[in-house]
Amino acid sequence: MNSSKTRQLAWTFIHHFTTATTHMTRCKLPMSYEKLEYVNSKVENRSYALPKSVYIHIPFCIRKCFYCDFAVIAGDSSHWYDNYISYIVREIESTLSYFKRKYQKLPDLETVYFGGGTPSLLPTIYIQQILLSLQKYINFASDVELTVEMDPGTFDLSKAREFFALGVNRVSVGVQSFDDTLLQLCGRSHNSKEIYYAWDTLRTAGFTNLSLDLMSGLPNQSLEVFKDSIEKAISLDPEHLSCYDLILEGSTPFGKKYQSGVYPLPSEDEAAAMYIFASCRLRERGFEHYEVSNYGKPKYLSKHNQVYWKNQSYYGFGISATSYTEMKRFSRPRKLLSYFDWVKRLEMQNGEVECPEESLQEQAVDTLILGLRMKQGISIDEFEKQYGQQVSWQVMEAAQPWIESGHILGKYNCNGQLQRIALQDPNGFLLQNSILISLLEKSLWNKSSSKYHKAQS
Ligand code: SF4
Repeated sequence: MNSSKTRQLAWTFIHHFTTATTHMTRCKLPMSYEKLEYVNSKVENRSYALPKSVYIHIPFCIRKCFYCDFAVIAGDSSHWYDNYISYIVREIESTLSYFKRKYQKLPDLETVYFGGGTPSLLPTIYIQQILLSLQKYINFASDVELTVEMDPGTFDLSKAREFFALGVNRVSVGVQSFDDTLLQLCGRSHNSKEIYYAWDTLRTAGFTNLSLDLMSGLPNQSLEVFKDSIEKAISLDPEHLSCYDLILEGSTPFGKKYQSGVYPLPSEDEAAAMYIFASCRLRERGFEHYEVSNYGKPKYLSKHNQVYWKNQSYYGFGISATSYTEMKRFSRPRKLLSYFDWVKRLEMQNGEVECPEESLQEQAVDTLILGLRMKQGISIDEFEKQYGQQVSWQVMEAAQPWIESGHILGKYNCNGQLQRIALQDPNGFLLQNSILISLLEKSLWNKSSSKYHKAQS
């Protein structure tokens, strides 16, 4: 595998796992693998931890950005709002009444995340309907993190205030770049002036926890232009910042037009330079680089996204959304009408989804892939408790050369035993995919796997 391909795949992990619920099952892996016999039969005390997090997918956008392959309905789709929200509410009620019947008491929700799409396009009455339908079945924790993704140009002060009044306490603003030429080239529906207006509006409405998304690796984006966007982002004083490298998806206009690493896309080295600059500059300005693509000020790390990276369970609702409940990971259809049919079937099955539980091995793979995205990495003790001694030893052995080369940071106890492994920032993060492949090949994977082969195709 050449280095360009490796980088492309590494960013594919980063991109898909970070955009999280909606895309968890679309993670692409570089080759096909088959399950190894899972040898440690002593690990069998599997218990369900009930979800404390919810993801809701709102698919409507003003227009479709040229790099985007999310499940999106672009253009004037307001005639769909009533119908779509009614199906989300039906799905919530069917799912949560199933869980309530089965477990009686459901744990309080700690995070609720409205993603998309562009949730801020919706009149807030619809967001309220969804929140009320959740609250019919589950209490919200007193410190619940309630996030809505909002794009510049899709709300004004009165709408921002309405969101705030509903209890939304975190907003993720889709900025991508402060360069108007780039915004236009990407097909974004807003310009840089609207970014500043959106930001001021949210602060005026009372929001004290704002996140901002940027992109690197865009066509014609030089290191200087990227640096300028980072500086302008810093000047807005966000509590949190995500910075994703462009992933070329074959189905998108960019995927058809450009080739990774080939002009006008930045070269491998230029893209790495952007990553290293962002990491160094943002850390210098007091952000914690707590996940491959995410930075937060102390106390402002995204609680919701950490649920995914810690491989914990969560509910998902809406088209294309993924759920991870009772150890079943499944996604809904990406098309509206198929989703409506899916909800009707769910109701006929009294809210129960028929889907196989993930094997212990699949969970171990996910835990490794997701856990190594985080700065804190993976506790060897916990990994061993969950997945057994043999596989844990294999992972430690496979990590050794990367510890020696300085790409993995190993933390040892006073007896010299390895306690935790984490990727070094930024060199380990940059080689994330190669490192993961080597760890998995020596512990949990074998060639020609059904599940991972499917994910790749
Ligand atoms: S606004 Fe976001 S979800 Fe909508 S098309 Fe653009 S990138 Fe995709």
